[in-house]
Amino acid sequence: MNVEAKRIAERKTVQEIMKIYCHGHHHIRESGNELCPDCEAIAAYADIRIARCPRMAVKTFCSVCPIHCYAKPQRELILTIMRYSGPRMLWHHPLMAIRHILIQWRTRHGLRKREK
Ligand code: SF4
Ligand SMILES: [Zn+2]
Repeated sequence: MNVEAKRIAERKTVQEIMKIYCHGHHHIRESGNELCPDCEAIAAYADIRIARCPRMAVKTFCSVCPIHCYAKPQRELILTIMRYSGPRMLWHHPLMAIRHILIQWRTRHGLRKREK
């Protein structure tokens, strides 16, 4: 997968992760929006980080990135969101989830280029 395809895949994954979290916590479906304003704000923040990520070619997970471009409050919020949505992705978006699990497994077992 080339860098831009990877970036697009990451942006889509974050959107789906945000939808699962928002729909599980906030009751906004009646409004017709996919996300509530708070989740929309954090999704937009993450989207900008992905769009500008200088490590897209080599990155695995932001949690092991040496740059950590997220500000602390947003980083903590994203971690909470990931903890909730991560396991649920397997049900909602199995292919995305399997890709994520494979990357995680390869990272843990050193089968992928380490973050520098
Ligand atoms: S934390 Fe690192 S890998 Fe994640 S978006 Fe920021 S620079 Fe890229
Ligand atoms: Zn929400």
